Amino acid sequence: MIIVLKADVEADSPEVQRLIQTAESYPDVHTQLHRIQGATRSVTEVYLLGSTGVIPTEPFQEFACVERVVRVTEKYRSIGRHSGGLDAVGFEYNGVHVSQDSFHPFPGLCAVDRRENVEEMFRALHERGLKTSRAGAYKPRTSPYDFQGHGAACLPYVFELAGKYDIRIIAMEVTHESHLEEIQKALAESGQATGVMLQIGTRNAQNFELLKAVGQQTELPVLFKRGMGITLEESLNACEYVASGGNRRIVFCLRGMKTNLGDPHRNFVDFGHVPVVKRLTRLPVCIDPSHSVGRRSMAPDGLLDVFHVTAQGVIAGANLVLVDFHPHPEEALCDGPQALLMEELAPFLEDLSIAREAYEQRLRRVAVPPAES
Ligand code: PEP
Ligand code: MN
Repeated sequence: MIIVLKADVEADSPEVQRLIQTAESYPDVHTQLHRIQGATRSVTEVYLLGSTGVIPTEPFQEFACVERVVRVTEKYRSIGRHSGGLDAVGFEYNGVHVSQDSFHPFPGLCAVDRRENVEEMFRALHERGLKTSRAGAYKPRTSPYDFQGHGAACLPYVFELAGKYDIRIIAMEVTHESHLEEIQKALAESGQATGVMLQIGTRNAQNFELLKAVGQQTELPVLFKRGMGITLEESLNACEYVASGGNRRIVFCLRGMKTNLGDPHRNFVDFGHVPVVKRLTRLPVCIDPSHSVGRRSMAPDGLLDVFHVTAQGVIAGANLVLVDFHPHPEEALCDGPQALLMEELAPFLEDLSIAREAYEQRLRRVAVPPAES
């Protein structure tokens, strides 16, 4: 059961404390407080966990501080659309608004290799007015003998350069709880030159301890990548671990499913799930065309497969596009063969605008009431 409090009610007010006592007076019931920060107001929710099936809703509805009581029988109690008054408003992080309505490309390096490549990347984004990128410092690799990322050592120059080129958010994968502290420390030492969205990679989609760790901090948002070999429902449940820890600033990312039925692509493109995730949850949805396609193949029409699948996701309403670029893919220490080239940045962004405009046009069509005959 979720008790949604009226906007701007303080969680430590005597009335809220009485409400919590009432809830916890029922056997095997405990409570959790969640504060959800929207763009213009904040809402506090009290979650009743445990044996809540037999608890009546009326005693809670009588509290003056209560806006409504929701009996959650649906799945996805925290990320679902039913959970409160700020459902699809998304979140604001480091001056960037992210929601089910916003649209932001995140082009960047799969893995940080050399300072010069990071600088070339960020400079190119800055020249086109982009403020969001990706840069991997901690790389989960299939073989232990492959490059594992420069880790904490590269963070100072990555953050310094991000600050220099006004990059506000870097999507950066973490593979261990200790990376959170390393990132926070380096951000503080850079004078908060930029912001980081913690990426949970597909291989860690069910690493529940890591999910709890990123969910229990609320400073940095989380980009959760769907598990490559589990159902959508299992991935959404795993994502729920992040939200139930208290962090509601989450983006859900589709990146293709591992099956040879998707050959010759690296993964089977699953962007048909963009509207499904938007319907089932309040989360903004990201697509990652690079890890889905995994190669630079071109269709006979002259467009790379990466461009084609990106357009499919964007025309279906994707809110973020995480995409690999590299100034010198032959030098890349990870995923060079799937990286787009710097001269492809402008055409890629143009393609994005065309697809996004087409999506917005489609929305306008459904918003118009049908003409009377
Ligand atoms: C990545 O984005 O660099 C990555 C490793 O992605 P995924 O977890 O989707 O394979
Ligand atoms: Mn990669």
